[in-house]
Amino acid sequence: TVQRFSGKTAIVTGAGSGIGKATAIQLAREGAKVAIFDLNDQRIAETENEINQIFQGAARAFDVDISDEARVAKAVKEAADHFDGVDILFANAGINGAWGPIEDMRLEDWEQTLRVNLNGTFLSVKHTIPYMKKRGAGSIIITSSINGLDRFSGWGASAYSTTKAGQVAFAKMAALELAKFKIRVNVISPGAIATNIDESTKISDELKEIVIPVEYPEGSQPLADGPGQPEDVAELVCFLASDASKHITGARVRIDGAEALL
Ligand code: NAD
Repeated sequence: TVQRFSGKTAIVTGAGSGIGKATAIQLAREGAKVAIFDLNDQRIAETENEINQIFQGAARAFDVDISDEARVAKAVKEAADHFDGVDILFANAGINGAWGPIEDMRLEDWEQTLRVNLNGTFLSVKHTIPYMKKRGAGSIIITSSINGLDRFSGWGASAYSTTKAGQVAFAKMAALELAKFKIRVNVISPGAIATNIDESTKISDELKEIVIPVEYPEGSQPLADGPGQPEDVAELVCFLASDASKHITGARVRIDGAEALL
């Protein structure tokens, strides 16, 4: 196989599960060293073991809450020291958070979603920039969603959608600001992907029955029989992380099997 990431180091947030985990594995398979950030220490230990069993020493787990600035700064430094720099950041960790009517939403629940999805993205990018500048190049990929940009069908998802749209504005400003350092910033907008994301939804039992379908509705993604797979998203992230996309920055790519076109 082509080792397009040999000699490169990637930080992947939310790498304990779903899209982040699949991407960390794919990056390692193609030669990268991967620093895997997540606050679920059991899950990152699993990701770390899975990668190191096949590519010894390629992965190292860091127990990080991306909304905690001191912890992010420390973990990025430790990762850069351990793997000798940082070339790629996949700012991917996120939560569904509080789901429900706006008039009933508690400020602290609203803020929790913003803290993880927006502050977490900002902090991951902020603390990685100095290392990419030192390298003279870098690629940052941010996981947004089709929700809040292409689709507004997620009833009750006002906080989540706000963060997913906000990430795009942030990415475009960052792309502009960082272009002179050859640091690229791009966004991916997945549709429904089969992951553990529903565990992060904070919702009352009554509302759950109304807004979250138990079965994935057939035909929701015209290109596929069901939701997309994390491995499909990993392929896109690797393209945006690689030099094959060296002239692409400030872009947003939907990956949803045409879900947003319905
Ligand atoms: P997931 O729940 O399987 O994985 C997310 C990981 O992020 C988990 O391991 C979790 O522990 C971690 N995480 C959560 N909060 C964190 C924090 N504060 N600090 C560090 N780690 C934290 O879900 P996923 O679907 O793989 O989600 C990844 C991203 O994809 C999210 O940003 C999500 O909004 C986005 N997304 C998912 C879908 C989908 O249908 N699954 C669709 C569109 C966008």
